Amino acid sequence: MDIALIGIGKIALDQHVPALTASADWNLAATCSRHGAVDGVDAYTDFDTLLADRPEIRVISLCLPPAPRFDYAARAIAAGRHVMLEKPPGATLSECHRLEDMARAAGVSLFATWHSREADMVPAAQDWLADKVVHKLHIDWREDVRKWHPGQDWCFEPGGMGVFDPGINALSIMTRILPRPVHLSSAVLDFPANRHTPITADLRFSDGVSAWFNWAHQGTEHWDIEVETDSGTLTLHEGGARMVINGETQGRADGLHGEYPRLYKNMAQLVAAGGIDMDLAPLRHVADAFMLGERREAAPFDW
Ligand code: NAP
Repeated sequence: MDIALIGIGKIALDQHVPALTASADWNLAATCSRHGAVDGVDAYTDFDTLLADRPEIRVISLCLPPAPRFDYAARAIAAGRHVMLEKPPGATLSECHRLEDMARAAGVSLFATWHSREADMVPAAQDWLADKVVHKLHIDWREDVRKWHPGQDWCFEPGGMGVFDPGINALSIMTRILPRPVHLSSAVLDFPANRHTPITADLRFSDGVSAWFNWAHQGTEHWDIEVETDSGTLTLHEGGARMVINGETQGRADGLHGEYPRLYKNMAQLVAAGGIDMDLAPLRHVADAFMLGERREAAPFDW
């Protein structure tokens, strides 16, 4: 299938282009970006022109930041195209619900992707936990924003979500592996004095679940989830690439490389089946944290 990639920036070049190039399902037929392009691929700078000029491209993959994404997705759906959304699927829950309604009415596929759910050991963790009683789950998600989003001011603008941009990856895994749903009960969010979104978040949920997100972390990142159950402890490390159950390690260190190839495989199946996959549970928890969280002022942040 022909596909167009929109918003040629960090994640498009790091992950989407290599995954599409290696895939037997997809042909990267065009890009649309105001500044970016991909060597050897037709490049548009105006989205409406691409939609009008290239009716044979039935699938649009949006790699933009969340705030501008709704407008592009709505135009693609109105033009009868199937749409794949980077995470988080939108800047608000309401716009995501609207997109789903629009896609249903237009009879096109819509896929809210959660790349961390495709990490190697996440399905195995979900299977192992399915029949366990979970006593506690703790997420420790720390990384350096200067390394992973260098100079990307949109992260600190309204709709950019701040530390929830990486934190929502952990929440996407949590909502996939927990055998029962939980809800947020309190949160403390630290906003740099000169920014609009938080740089750390301390979250408490029901049922013994908690999370610590820190974007000001220096050095090696920690992307860990520890689950205490009636049958022992399961820990996911490295964003779900490695799993340890009661001291026994499973999984490889390069287990994140399969995430985007699996997302595109899923999208190919979704389009073939004519389905919609819009699980908004991770975004719901983020929205709750902004609604319920205590806001504290932190030191100003500059790149
Ligand atoms: P990015 O490089 O800053 O943005 C991607 C591209 O989107 C930009 O190069 C820009 O291309 C276009 N864009 C930016 N603002 C726009 C606007 N207001 N209107 C239209 N186009 C705009 O960001 P990214 O790191 O790739 O992240 C994009 C999405 O991928 C985010 O939702 C993020 O959560 C997700 N993601 C990122 C990573 C990561 O490691 N960075 C990992 C996984 C997922 P032009 O200027 O050429 O139009």
